[in-house]
Amino acid sequence: MAFKFLERGSIERVKELYEGRWTYRLFSTRKPVTIDSISDCPCMACYDIDRCSTVSQVSPILCKKLTYWINLKTDNEHVSPDEFHEDNV
Ligand code: SF4
Repeated sequence: MAFKFLERGSIERVKELYEGRWTYRLFSTRKPVTIDSISDCPCMACYDIDRCSTVSQVSPILCKKLTYWINLKTDNEHVSPDEFHEDNV
């Protein structure tokens, strides 16, 4: 499992001596989340945020704006800009 993370560069490992035995300490290479990373999230300026929840009709699970934004952030191609319409929220 750890090798997959190493291959992806998500973690690094450093060899160290612990209680007389050689082992590896694993470190995440991810940087902490900052407020800047979500400042352009559509939820930040959404008129429906007060009625948006996972159990209502306005839902982050179904929200095209949020899905499109996440896909842009993650370079995911599941939703194209052509599928994005304001009235699909
Ligand atoms: S998930 Fe969509 S509907 Fe809900 S607050 Fe964010 S942008 Fe608005």
